[in-house]
Amino acid sequence: MRIDIVSVFPEYFDVLNLSLLGKAQDKGLLQVTAHNLRDWTHDVHRTVDDTPVGGGAGMVMKPEIWAQCLDDVLGLPARELENVELTLDDDLPVGQGYGVHATKHGSEVGAAEQSSAIATTQLEHGHKPSQLKQVLIFPNPSAPLFNQQAATELSHAEQLVFGCGRYEGIDARVPRYYAEQGVDVREYSIGDYVLNGGEVAVSAMIEAIVRLIPGFMGNPESIVEESYTGDALLEHRPYTKPTTWRGIAVPQVLISGDHAKVDRYRRDEAIMRTNAIRPDLIEQLDCRRLDKADRKL
Ligand code: SAM
Repeated sequence: MRIDIVSVFPEYFDVLNLSLLGKAQDKGLLQVTAHNLRDWTHDVHRTVDDTPVGGGAGMVMKPEIWAQCLDDVLGLPARELENVELTLDDDLPVGQGYGVHATKHGSEVGAAEQSSAIATTQLEHGHKPSQLKQVLIFPNPSAPLFNQQAATELSHAEQLVFGCGRYEGIDARVPRYYAEQGVDVREYSIGDYVLNGGEVAVSAMIEAIVRLIPGFMGNPESIVEESYTGDALLEHRPYTKPTTWRGIAVPQVLISGDHAKVDRYRRDEAIMRTNAIRPDLIEQLDCRRLDKADRKL
């Protein structure tokens, strides 16, 4: 798999050379390149942001810089599109500048709704192309949540391109534009909180995705029985030796040597923990996968 990351802090991704990710790169399973967005600027200050149209605090990342960079990274032909500055004299209702663009492409949907609908639609309808070639991903706190299902799907892609926002985010027309060009565009949040930039979110997504690539983990079994995998339960708690540590013993059944009982104990614990911590996952559980002993819980 090839991974390209675009950021104003590409050095953030030096951590991806460590541990299993570094080994996967050495083995040729993975090729990671972090690009500096400022390399696509043309001014002396290497400016990547501008004030928000419509007013308000903060700065927004400029679409033309992102587009020049992403055209290169995605391998698309560079396009010089004219920048048009709309004014009130253009007789457009304030705040509907994007509508002009949408109408041109035969759609009445606003850019913001359309771009967030991209990821929502793909996740809600289980969008699963058999072989993903190239996927463009934008971390965004106001997008659908990234989860194990998304990580599994993306682990089959040939190339992932991540665009890390900063400030108030990237101009909303950027994801929309690439989706309209036929690129598979996703936007994901990694949790209900706001980070300063997309770098931490992208690092988390990359780690969750690449550990699912066949050959990445030394022992492939270790990704089969995990939280959010298979039945999508939380995993049972782990214990190692000594069997008693600081007066706390491991559950007796784990040292019984009876594998069926150990399996049963772990499954019961997984179901009970999930019910207590994530009842939403229990509600989504496929009842056909429950056995008689599960149903007694
Ligand atoms: N103004 C935006 C909002 O309130 O939704 C927050 C922008 S945030 C300060 C800047 C960038 O950080 C975002 O464009 C995104 O790339 C990244 N980011 C922040 N929180 C994130 C989260 N929970 N998940 C994914 N990306 C996040």
